[in-house]
Amino acid sequence: MSRKSGLVPRAQYDPEEKTLLPEPEHGVKERPLPDLSGMTLAALSDWVTSIGLPPFRAGQLFRWIHGRLVKGFDEMTDISKSLRGRLSEEARITRLQSLETHRSEDGTLRAVLALPDGLPVETVLIPEPRRLTACLSTQVGCRMGCAFCQTGRLGLLRDLSTSEIVAQLDWLRGLPDCAGNRVSNVVLMGMGEPLDNRGQVFPALEIITGDLGASIASRRVTVSTIGLTDGIAEMEGLPGQYGLALSLHGALPETRARLVPGAPEQDLDVLAASLASYARVKRRRVTIEYCLIEGVNDDREHADALAAFTGRIPCKINVIPLNPVGTGGLRPPAKEGIERFLEWLYPVCQAVILRKPRGRDIQGACGQLGTSLLLASRGYAPERASGSQAQHGADPQAR
Ligand code: SF4
Repeated sequence: MSRKSGLVPRAQYDPEEKTLLPEPEHGVKERPLPDLSGMTLAALSDWVTSIGLPPFRAGQLFRWIHGRLVKGFDEMTDISKSLRGRLSEEARITRLQSLETHRSEDGTLRAVLALPDGLPVETVLIPEPRRLTACLSTQVGCRMGCAFCQTGRLGLLRDLSTSEIVAQLDWLRGLPDCAGNRVSNVVLMGMGEPLDNRGQVFPALEIITGDLGASIASRRVTVSTIGLTDGIAEMEGLPGQYGLALSLHGALPETRARLVPGAPEQDLDVLAASLASYARVKRRRVTIEYCLIEGVNDDREHADALAAFTGRIPCKINVIPLNPVGTGGLRPPAKEGIERFLEWLYPVCQAVILRKPRGRDIQGACGQLGTSLLLASRGYAPERASGSQAQHGADPQAR
């Protein structure tokens, strides 16, 4: 599917069948109003002055939307009734509705949320002893077509807007889970390739880290990518010290090309240089995600190649045994195979961590629930089972 196919389904969710109804003949018209929830503070300042309001209104609105998480202008009680009425006529705020939620025995919460046009998107909240991590999606579907990824089977349906990315976080922050525990970390590892939609993702990063909103430190926000080097270079220019995770999965060119065929940069030397530059500029290690697959990338040759690749980059390596759900027959090595691979790496790599997926009992990792829904609506038979297969091959708890 071409990236900008123009296919923006106006699907509807059937709560009884737990599936999406076919696209109606007449799509729902979006209100052509400025969406304040997708504006950075600077953009909001421009907007309020453009309609004749004093600049201080920008901070006031930003705090109400992303700090106090109001659902509409009516709740902004320190703004006069007449101005609230005017704002509701001239602007809008995006809030998402929950379609499905699943709670794991380990506390992980997965939610499928309805976008304004009815498409589903998945978001995840992962509690840990010292942090609370939100995993957000950035696209509906994905055009990168990674060999082990259900979302890749969909192709790209559409990019999420800045407001739809931030609204996932705001929805999670409104849960009772977050009443006494602030979301401390954010990972962009749900459905989609974040750097393929960086025009919307980068402003979302600015909003997420904004003082008047979620106020999450940029070092606690991680962008996961299959290695779009032009996007990585642009990230270098952002003011924040955002974390960067590369979904590598193969350090031999032919293996990488097989597993991650959509990566525009297949030259591993160029990719390593891009990551090393990011690590140097941001003065922090990048994360290398390596999904371990039996008979594909788990032998000594691949371990040596991984060590050689990562030896050039300040990094840590997350090894994640593949979850076999929706992978077309690919599967993880047995326990002995995983241990053997790690033993090859430990003496020669900087930092190697075996990641255990969260939420194993609630089917899949980021994106898989939402993807299952979309695949079913298109006549596929997505595999649904316990276990975890993170998009980009990573477990969101990894950060
Ligand atoms: S792993 Fe990530 S980049 Fe690859 S197809 Fe899935 S969502 Fe897209």
